[in-house]
Amino acid sequence: MLRSGAANHTIARELGLDKATPARYRAALGMAPVPRSAPNRCTLTLDEKFRQFVRVVDGGHMEWVGRHTKSSGTPVFSFAGRTVTARTVAFQLARGGAPEGYVTTECDHEGCVAPEHVEDEPGRNRLRAQLAALTGQESTRTACVRGHAAAEHRRYLPNGSPYCGTCQDMAKAAGRAAA
Ligand SMILES: [Zn+2]
Ligand SMILES: [Zn+2]
Repeated sequence: MLRSGAANHTIARELGLDKATPARYRAALGMAPVPRSAPNRCTLTLDEKFRQFVRVVDGGHMEWVGRHTKSSGTPVFSFAGRTVTARTVAFQLARGGAPEGYVTTECDHEGCVAPEHVEDEPGRNRLRAQLAALTGQESTRTACVRGHAAAEHRRYLPNGSPYCGTCQDMAKAAGRAAA
């Protein structure tokens, strides 16, 4: 049985031996231990772990029932000893790659973490530009008042209203410096 590759516990059970006996003979015969199958705990994939913390609601939206960071309320969970944000993981699950910039919910269900309902910066910009065009808010200006090229720096609010992302970043930085 040892030579056929049977596990120690199988041999012990079939032959009515003490559990330690097959291992002792295996060692005495100079045979390597049979690799144990991975233990059940900690073997959830990132996808499975993510899905433990979501509740699917009408419209395919997913509400986060896991924990949130105290500071910003960002939905997060632990995976492989690290804290990961739910929306970033959702993005990765849907697109198969890491997001560019931060990830936001882009459907109308607040806080939704459905993989198909989140976008990274380029995706968000694309969607909101379409909304701007649909709602007649798209600007024909090619640069902002400070001369930042629209093609590179233009961003949009969730309602499709365009603004200069670089000017806003500068204003935020100035606000932080003044605080
Ligand atoms: Zn949604
Ligand atoms: Zn600007």
